Amino acid sequence: MSDPVPVAMGQGSSCWGCFQSLIDIHLGLADILPKLEIKYWQAVADFKLHHLENYEDKSIVVGFYEGMARTEEDIHLLKVMREKCQILIAFGSCSCFGGIPTLANQSDIEECYDVKFRENKTFKDGKVPSENLPRIEPVVRPNSEYVDFDIYLPGCPPTSKLIATAINALLAGETLDLPPHTVCHYCSREKKETPITEILRPFTGKADPERCLLEQGYICLGSSTWGLCEGQCVNKGVTCRGCFGPPPPIMSDYGAAAMSMLGTYAPIEPDKLVEQVKDPLGTFYRFTYGTSHLNRMRVRREDMKQAQEEA
Ligand code: SF4
Ligand code: SF4
Ligand code: SF4
Repeated sequence: MSDPVPVAMGQGSSCWGCFQSLIDIHLGLADILPKLEIKYWQAVADFKLHHLENYEDKSIVVGFYEGMARTEEDIHLLKVMREKCQILIAFGSCSCFGGIPTLANQSDIEECYDVKFRENKTFKDGKVPSENLPRIEPVVRPNSEYVDFDIYLPGCPPTSKLIATAINALLAGETLDLPPHTVCHYCSREKKETPITEILRPFTGKADPERCLLEQGYICLGSSTWGLCEGQCVNKGVTCRGCFGPPPPIMSDYGAAAMSMLGTYAPIEPDKLVEQVKDPLGTFYRFTYGTSHLNRMRVRREDMKQAQEEA
């Protein structure tokens, strides 16, 4: 057997769901693990940051970075991962697009502290801790603003099958060639090109199990979403919420494309549409707000505020 390949697993601010999905490869790991030389993975072994910092630059072949960079420790880890790894993978939709945590950019950092610490009834003294809390950035910027990635592997989380495919291709020295289709390509439901006359909430009525959910009025984002999950929700009866983000080129504004897609299906008066879509931000930008035009404006506003405060 050839020598194991040095790999590193870095975790920013995240829920660990992407790494859990890697673990969920289960018995498939029996083939994969002997081929890996794990050089850094804080969550599963006693590695310290200085171990990673002390490796030679580019001495690690593949690095996975899960989560987004909310704290200065996250940003530092992300930059060190970039220095040490030949191939750096944005692992999961938080790492690719900011993910759900970036929706916090709708609030000022002080409002975030209110919710997390000051008004949190499970928190002892209602104060923001002054110890053991890394500096928190006032806004979340997409990871791609800090470093360049070689591969984007989206999903919330990426499926175990997709992760195994990626790891096996990279270990074999092959280019990762992912199919560009949207979720609709993998969906077994019948489409009849029927315009939508009313938007339904997910709990309204009972969906026809054979027909396209979107054409029945349920907001399914399958036609705007990269189908690397092979349509796992829609084929089980649930609408696609867009967790894999846009198909290649994946850094486009997903939410804008999704809204425009809905406009083509739903010839409904704009004011009625606004009334019927109850949570536009959470519906269209749930996983991709970080790389949206709206977030770029939010980050620019914060930069101007900081510059004024420092002047
Ligand atoms: S992409 Fe989803 S599963 Fe992965 S860390 Fe973010 S929230 Fe968790
Ligand atoms: S919009 Fe949704 S339900 Fe309709 S075909 Fe696409 S994935 Fe299937
Ligand atoms: S169907 Fe949509 S929401 Fe479900 S896993 Fe696939 S991309 Fe994510």
